[in-house]
Amino acid sequence: MTLNPDKQASSTTNQVMPALFVGHGTPMNAIEENEFSLTWRELGRNLPRPKSILVISAHWETAGTQVTAMPNPRTIYDFGGFPRQLSEYKYPAVGSPELVEMIGDTVKLSKVQPDHRWGLDHGTWSILAHFYPQADIPVVQMSLDQTKGPEYHYALGKELRALRQQGVLIIGSGNIVHNLRMVSMEGRNFNIRKGHDWAVEFDEAIKESIVTGNHTDAVDYQKLGRPALLSVNSAEHYLPLLYILGLQEEQDRASFFNDVLIAGSLSMRSVLVGRAN
Ligand code: ZN
Repeated sequence: MTLNPDKQASSTTNQVMPALFVGHGTPMNAIEENEFSLTWRELGRNLPRPKSILVISAHWETAGTQVTAMPNPRTIYDFGGFPRQLSEYKYPAVGSPELVEMIGDTVKLSKVQPDHRWGLDHGTWSILAHFYPQADIPVVQMSLDQTKGPEYHYALGKELRALRQQGVLIIGSGNIVHNLRMVSMEGRNFNIRKGHDWAVEFDEAIKESIVTGNHTDAVDYQKLGRPALLSVNSAEHYLPLLYILGLQEEQDRASFFNDVLIAGSLSMRSVLVGRAN
């Protein structure tokens, strides 16, 4: 095990791991030093050091729930129109057959299928590039079963709770508000720190359901009507949040970081469940 020399607390792996929902935003965050990526770096230095990492990424949808089971997952460039530097970036973390087996033993809701074709998509590596730049912790990705509704994803999150006691850091990677068709505010400018009215309304409503521990509202987000329809115009960026809420035990606090809206229709609001150190 590699110890972080300047942070003794980071060597602890016996405590219950926190769980994170990370608003990942544009892939450019992988190679940019900005307020979001700097926060990810700081968290990576302060969180208890995980034995392995499980990421539920918005960018992998399948029929049935799958997990990456290869020993060396490749870095996937699932986007276009970005600078070459981004499509040359490599995140060489190894996989974890042990974690895949643990997931298979823990999950009863679905027969989780091992995958040997996918890898790490930018929902995973654009953030881990900052959390763990050394890429020295094994990483497994879990897909979103696109045939299932929000209740399933929340319930599956609950089933993964036991992994937090095994040194596994579980991260949901998406965005609470994510509507690229509505990124119209003063051009396609991700530096604008502002949200459309409906985006602010939806983001606040979900924040409220997390603060009050009323997860039913977050699971039944469609009941919020028009703000929900516009903020979650397709569900894949929202659903990873439900895993993290499912992972919240009664004694866990939830706190927020990077909680700003950008470019009108993207929320970077991120959630930490449990203790940061
Ligand atoms: Zn995305």
